[in-house]
This record gives sequence, structure tokens and C-alpha cells, in this order.
Amino acid sequence: MPAGRRILIVEDDAEVRDAVARGLRLHDFEAVGARDTDAARAEIARRRPDLIVLDVGLPGQSGTEFCAQLRADGWDVPVLVLSARDAVGDRIVGLEAGADDYVVKPFDLQELVLRIEALLRRAPTTGDTDVVVAGALWIDVDRRLASVEGERIELSGREFDLLTALARNAGIVLSRVRLLELVWGYEFDVDTNVVDVFIGYLRRKLGAVESAPEIETVRGVGFVLRAS
Ligand code: CA
Repeated sequence: MPAGRRILIVEDDAEVRDAVARGLRLHDFEAVGARDTDAARAEIARRRPDLIVLDVGLPGQSGTEFCAQLRADGWDVPVLVLSARDAVGDRIVGLEAGADDYVVKPFDLQELVLRIEALLRRAPTTGDTDVVVAGALWIDVDRRLASVEGERIELSGREFDLLTALARNAGIVLSRVRLLELVWGYEFDVDTNVVDVFIGYLRRKLGAVESAPEIETVRGVGFVLRAS
């Protein structure tokens, strides 16, 4: 088992979350925690985990909804669901939502580690796959898929590259010249109107999708993707 594989623990119960994280670190895993699925997305944006330990009962979006979204986004990261005792429904719904395995609470840490190791042996290493997350927007760069909360956004090649450049720099204003460099590969100042045209296309497509981030114009400077 390669050391340092990254496990994301999504669990609102801090005691359980910390205990699992400590246990995994003892087994040479890198463990990070998230208390809800928003925090989980932020962690994934920082660096993609190799496996997700996912509680079903979370404040806000449930673990199963989150798992279904990851699958709809086209991501096959191994997911191990933490199910409440006797909540057989949780397990079935979890597996139907695309989870790979589950353990029932309260669980034995050693058993959890064994299950995680088994899942990782079956799974290809995903840590080097390029995914960009900006708010609810999810971009699988390698597979050239963009989606918002599981809803696919159909983009042309150039639109995809432009959205990826904006999302990689979410919150940062990019000038038209910088975007030309990043997306069109021009290193000189040409007719920058093309950027505005493509920003217009993107806005139309993002605007049709609920909770998609907005592209803001910063007058005299350029554009910024706002992912709140
Ligand atoms: Ca819970």
C-alpha cells in the first residue's frame, strides 16, 4: 500500500471524524475532515482524495445525495459510507447512489482501515487526475466534463478551456490578454474581442444552470469567476 494516500472523512460528528482521522494517520494515511458536503467540496478543490469516507446523515445535503452527485459528475473515487446502526435503508440508498462499501456505526476502527485498504487496492490511483472545483462548479479536466451539482454543461472546446482557466483562478481577476495567453495561447496582444464573445457564450450556458457561478466583468481590468 503506497504511503500517504489521502482520505477525506465527511462526518458532522467531530468526535467520530477525529477518531477516524487519528486512526487513519496511524496507518500512514493522510486524513482530512469535513463537517458537511460544502466543506468536502472545498477539501476536494484543495487536493483530490484517493478515497472518501462519507457519513449519510449530514447537515444540509445528505451523504447519499453528495455521492450521487460525484457519480453524476463522472468521478469514480472509492466511497465508503458510514451508516447508522439498523438503518438498512441508508446502506441500500448509499450503494444505489454509487458508494462502493459501507460500515455500520459504531464500527471498529481496525475494520474500517481494512475496508479502506481493500477498496484502494481495487481502485486506480486517482490523485493525479486533474479536477477543478469552484463553488458548485466541477470540472474534470482530463475527461473534459463540466457540471454543476450533477447537471452537465455542454461546452465547445474553447468554452471549456476558458471556463477551466477562470475556475482555476476563481476570485482572481484575469485580464483579456492573460485569458488569451491561457486559452488561445497567444503571447501577443491581438483582437481581444474574442474573449468577450466567448465570455458571452459561457454566461449564457452558466446562466441556464441553477447555482452555477457567475462570471463578473471588472471594468477596465477583465473577468473573474465568482464562486461563493
Ligand atoms: Ca451524522
